[in-house]
Amino acid sequence: MFVVKIISFMKISIIGNNLTGLILSKALVNKNINVKLFYNPKKNTKKTNRTIGIAKKNMDFIQSKLLKVPKFFFNTINEIGIFTENSKKSEILNFNNEHELFYLVKYESFLNLINKSLKKSKNFKFHKIKSYNSFKSMINNCDEKIIINCENNNFINTNFFSSNFSKDYKSEAFTFIFQHKSIKNNKAIQIFTKYGPLAFLPLSKTQTSVVFSVYKSKYKLDEKKIITLVKYYNKKYTINKFSNIEKVNLKFKSARKYFYKNILLFGDNLHQVHPLAGQGFNMTLRDLEILMTEIDKLKKLGLPLNKNILKNFENKTKSNNFLYISGINIIESFFKLDSQFKNSISNLIPKLTKKNKYVKNLFIQIADKGLRFL
Ligand SMILES: Cc1cc2nc3c(=O)[nH]c(=O)nc-3n(C[C@H](O)[C@H](O)[C@H](O)COP(=O)(O)OP(=O)(O)OC[C@H]3O[C@@H](n4cnc5c(N)ncnc54)[C@H](O)[C@@H]3O)c2cc1C
Repeated sequence: MFVVKIISFMKISIIGNNLTGLILSKALVNKNINVKLFYNPKKNTKKTNRTIGIAKKNMDFIQSKLLKVPKFFFNTINEIGIFTENSKKSEILNFNNEHELFYLVKYESFLNLINKSLKKSKNFKFHKIKSYNSFKSMINNCDEKIIINCENNNFINTNFFSSNFSKDYKSEAFTFIFQHKSIKNNKAIQIFTKYGPLAFLPLSKTQTSVVFSVYKSKYKLDEKKIITLVKYYNKKYTINKFSNIEKVNLKFKSARKYFYKNILLFGDNLHQVHPLAGQGFNMTLRDLEILMTEIDKLKKLGLPLNKNILKNFENKTKSNNFLYISGINIIESFFKLDSQFKNSISNLIPKLTKKNKYVKNLFIQIADKGLRFL
């Protein structure tokens, strides 16, 4: 009885109505925690056709602990083929699993699904941030509570967390969806082209999402050229129609400190990585699972939420996350270098992995579960 009373007094303020802020809110609300979500009404107003690949282990976590995602919301990917500019039609690597590797969802549909579910919760409220002064007073009046910042480049980031490990990938990602003739569409393809990594990510039998990360310091490509190149590298689909193209600069960021006083950073604020491995949001989901475990530990002890949880969370995640994103950076640098040598280094990969199935399996496990299973 006593434990239940304390838990119902738990309060957390979250900043950011993006995917990170909403999924975190949903996880907390499910644990009977009162959540106030503060958001800037001018941010995230644009429609987007971006998609997100969610690893199997993370989708299992979402489905079992957060919310039911109906099957028609995602497409299952059970095979990934990796090619290079010079590997012609043969793959340098192929990952396939008897089970699913990952699922592709439309960012906006997923966001709306969580939003809808949150609006039904009694212990959840949205609050508009009207000005920087209201932001400041919110922080000053939140001494007892925990604040989790999921938004990039706001007052909190610039004032309390200005020092990060960062790097400009000198690349920009073009993202869009194309419609095509109906086919069985469960194999993702990544081609390390001389322009940068190009991914074809199946969204349904008739829709495929494209992420083309281009080395912008070397190639200045406009939308017309992007479409021409996608048509050139596509060997699989009969394309009918392209959606509009979105463009985003690619940067690497790793937070030096995860929390300050009672404020915790979360999501891309902690780690922003190159999309070539589709791991940014997956890392956030792994962090979320760890944060929830720490909350459960407090619950079991009958203790209210306190600032110690932020330290425990940092201890459990920071070094693993840094190692993981460093691995992604090594892959990015490797293929950049390899393309300068006409893929002569990556051409050796098929011989190496054929002999060693363990290595391939290891890659699958790391992409699915992070470094925790090692
Ligand atoms: C091109 C691209 C593809 C990605 N694909 C995956 C993936 O398959 N699986 C995964 O786990 N993580 C992926 N990520 C990372 C993931 O998008 C972010 O970790 C997550 O969306 C950020 O959280 P948010 O949406 O809550 O934050 P927000 O503040 O809403 O989003 C900001 C971040 O979203 C990303 N972004 C902005 N515009 C686009 C766009 N048009 N397309 C894609 N991303 C955009 C940028 O990284 C930006 O920093 C990708 C990132 C990029 C840039």
